[in-house]
Amino acid sequence: MLKERLLNVQENIQNACKKSGRNENDVTLIAVSKTKPVEILQEAYDLGVRIFGENKVQEMTQKYELMPKDVQWHFIGHLQTNKVKYIVDKVELIHSVDSIKLAETIEKEAAKKNCVVRILVEVNVSQEESKFGVKEEELLSFIEKVSNFKHIKVEGLMTIAPYTENPEENRPIFSRLHQLSVDISDKNIDNVNVSILSMGMTNDYEVAIEEGATFVRVGTGIFGARDYSKNA
Ligand SMILES: *Cc1c(COP(=O)(O)O)cnc(C)c1O
Repeated sequence: MLKERLLNVQENIQNACKKSGRNENDVTLIAVSKTKPVEILQEAYDLGVRIFGENKVQEMTQKYELMPKDVQWHFIGHLQTNKVKYIVDKVELIHSVDSIKLAETIEKEAAKKNCVVRILVEVNVSQEESKFGVKEEELLSFIEKVSNFKHIKVEGLMTIAPYTENPEENRPIFSRLHQLSVDISDKNIDNVNVSILSMGMTNDYEVAIEEGATFVRVGTGIFGARDYSKNA
């Protein structure tokens, strides 16, 4: 089951790359394993998966202890400042930085551990209903501020598009995030490189790839539906 679903997602990624004339090595699949038990992650690991996405600090650190050390952990959820210290030296990339207060905390905790944390800035691409993400009009000044932090490296942008049955509805959001990254690149800000675009989930990752995604975050498509009944 897991194997078939994983192969299917990998094949869809390859096809989306072909369709849009992109190199498939430029698109990285993040297996979003939130809520799934570590046995299932291990099964995915045995099938070759090394990049996992989690959205809860405690869950990620527990799995971090239990999984092999060559796993790369991507933090994709809303991050509370009081929990930053538990993950700064364990994450490959934090996808969800959307406030100066959070960036300051990451800077402080990373300095203590003497590491540099790679981050993406979460952007709220004109979605009134979304609570999280930097607004488009504030993005440039936000990135300029964060670029001054010595222990943070801005590497790109991330967005969470609304759930939709029809992925075409999210195409304008993905193309907008891409355009924003081009605009930021043109500013040539020191210590900032926005080459990563983290966008696209189970229902819309192919469209996201056509619009330039370099990371797609796929959970359900790989692991099946999540069961929240135990900790809802
Ligand atoms: C849960 C989650 C995903 C994966 O969602 P699926 O629809 O299961 O693929 C991707 N990104 C973020 C930020 C998530 O929280």
